[in-house]
Amino acid sequence: MDGDGARAAGAGRYAPSPSGDLHLGNLRTALLAWMFARSSGRRFLMRIEDLDRARDAGSAERQLADLAALGLDWDGPPVRQTERSAAHEAAIARLADAGLVYECSCTRRDILAAPSAPHAPPGAYPGTCRDLDPAARAAARDRIAPRLPALRLRVPEGTRAPAFTDRVLGAQHGDIDDLVLRRGDGTVAYNLAVVVDDAAMGVDQVVRGDDLAPSTPRQILLQRLLGLPSPPDVEYAHVPLVLGPEGARLAKRDGAVTLAELRERGIGPVAVLGRLAASLGLASPGEPVTPARLLERFDPDALPREPWTWTDPAVERPGPATS
Ligand code: GLU
Repeated sequence: MDGDGARAAGAGRYAPSPSGDLHLGNLRTALLAWMFARSSGRRFLMRIEDLDRARDAGSAERQLADLAALGLDWDGPPVRQTERSAAHEAAIARLADAGLVYECSCTRRDILAAPSAPHAPPGAYPGTCRDLDPAARAAARDRIAPRLPALRLRVPEGTRAPAFTDRVLGAQHGDIDDLVLRRGDGTVAYNLAVVVDDAAMGVDQVVRGDDLAPSTPRQILLQRLLGLPSPPDVEYAHVPLVLGPEGARLAKRDGAVTLAELRERGIGPVAVLGRLAASLGLASPGEPVTPARLLERFDPDALPREPWTWTDPAVERPGPATS
């Protein structure tokens, strides 16, 4: 620990999307988020990121039960993002009042077909709808009716891409574009919701999978534009993902990857915790551990920087080709 154990007010969090059972990668990230928070004297909060209504809201309960089965605990009831829409809309209204929001009627295909601005990052919004006059904006709206336009952030001219120092990845910076704040179907965008909710929950430590590191500069920009705490007052730690045997991000096809599936193989939650701990260099293989014991051993600066590859021992795989 590095002296911030006295910090009383801060909080870390885990923010799963309820899109099915958590797999080993999610569980490992949750364990890390819990250890980062608890080892620094922070509260640990839970947020269900259920804004995308296509997701199965019922899986949230199973996810929480799995985290509890691993021995993780959290402070207070989980926050559901769908109950936070007034705060999300208020943030969009604030940005709009500052002239930082515009309607965008582009389809995905329009964006792909548009010539990209010089030096723009791949996939960046080319700015098609940014400066339309009122007549052109109305025509663009009519073109997509009955669908409604999305809302985008008008990144102020001259904005430099925010840089931050990640607790795991080190110095980071990234490109930003006019990101979506609210989709045409009315769903608030992840980047906006996460920033508004983290601030409202008093989160000053964000631990999550490193696939989300590229979103962080956009989130920092939103924090600044909304006058919310941002680095260095908010700490980021993007942790390595778990990979399947083919080297891709762990997925269902990789065999038993959820607590329920592993339990069927006779690998209970305590054994799973042990394997996760061993993968983090916090336990010897097969050693029985508890979260409290792991917390004593946890050193954020000694975390493995490489992804962990999970191989389900029960899945038959073709051996190396022989000729
Ligand atoms: N809900 C996101 C996920 O499950 C995580 C968001 C975050 O931690 O900022 O991937």
